[in-house]
Amino acid sequence: MKIDRIDTVQHEDFPNLLHVLVHTDDGVVGTGETFYGAEAVEAQIHAVAAPLLLGADPLRINAHNRTLQGYVGYTGSGAETRARSAIDIALWDIRARAAGVPLYDSLGGLTRSSIRTYNTCAGSHYVRRHGQSTRNWGLDAQSGNYEDLQRFLTDAGSLAEELLAEGLTGMKIWPFDSYAEASNGTSITAAELQRALSPIRQIRDAVGTEMDVMIELHALWNVPMARKIIRALADFQPYWVEDPVRADIDHGLASLTDTIAAAGTMLAAGETVASVGTFLPLIGSGGPLDVVTLDVTWCGGFTEAIAIAAVAATAGRAIAPHDCTGPISLAAATHLSLSAPNALLQETVRASLRGWYGDIATNLPTVAEGHLHPPTGTGLGTELQPDYLTSSGAHVRSSR
Ligand SMILES: [Mg+2]
Repeated sequence: MKIDRIDTVQHEDFPNLLHVLVHTDDGVVGTGETFYGAEAVEAQIHAVAAPLLLGADPLRINAHNRTLQGYVGYTGSGAETRARSAIDIALWDIRARAAGVPLYDSLGGLTRSSIRTYNTCAGSHYVRRHGQSTRNWGLDAQSGNYEDLQRFLTDAGSLAEELLAEGLTGMKIWPFDSYAEASNGTSITAAELQRALSPIRQIRDAVGTEMDVMIELHALWNVPMARKIIRALADFQPYWVEDPVRADIDHGLASLTDTIAAAGTMLAAGETVASVGTFLPLIGSGGPLDVVTLDVTWCGGFTEAIAIAAVAATAGRAIAPHDCTGPISLAAATHLSLSAPNALLQETVRASLRGWYGDIATNLPTVAEGHLHPPTGTGLGTELQPDYLTSSGAHVRSSR
């Protein structure tokens, strides 16, 4: 079997998403995906990756992943790494499809047949354009059935009740971000702190401790403000605090572990961190992370994610893979979460999974009783909707 064509797909309606389709001369097609900077990733795939891969055996995944690390851009989740991630996912999809098995079988088989999920309370147009800022929250669109971001900002208690009634026992919210933006992460006043705590207070008033609450800080804060926020959260027993500071701040996450422990919560981080070597100081030798929120489409693909999960396991830490970008990413993360013994949770976004993800991909993972189940079928079990590829706004570029 040889790789004989590589397509990339971008769509004007989803400018952050980049899909890659790796075709083989046997007719097997693998699908990959990544998110942010789609044009740069597309260029990397056609200019650099395709000449290396066309004519090669797609099953030599380790070798291709190593080759695509290149001479520059191999650390961090830049365009080189995101291109490598998308291609690696497509190659694992080919491997499993060629073997006629679901992808989790190729990853070593099921540790569990479903995994507990939590709902990230984004809305239908969340980060539809570039950037992780309040301007890109999509609050003015308000067109979906699950505008959970608006709900948590205004009426988090009723949202918690609704999610619990669906069987979802975890929810993630980010009520601190606007204060971080206003001060570049350097200041939150006592009054602002109380306003930001209002959603979690409403959740506790409505449903007590029945709901696990994950607090997302999007790595927007400096160390003393992160410490101040974590201390203030302690009374509300958050399940975890996620990305309080950037992972590359010198000793930043490590300096928060005492505060995290005193607050009785866990430190989760890592969705923007790529490659096992960069993760090592965060999880090996007493590193600060309790939960590794790796993203398969950003960290270097399955090949890198398997290694990161294994390092986390040897350090007695859990993984809880990231969603909130696109449907192939969720499918890939689901296969990893079902196979990795140290997977704790799999993130999902009901506004996406029951909304626009279905416009892009077929046969998505499903949630029942708060647990996520994989798609049936071979490989990822999921592929791009034929209509998505041919719709106006879709731009397909091929290397062959
Ligand atoms: Mg996150």
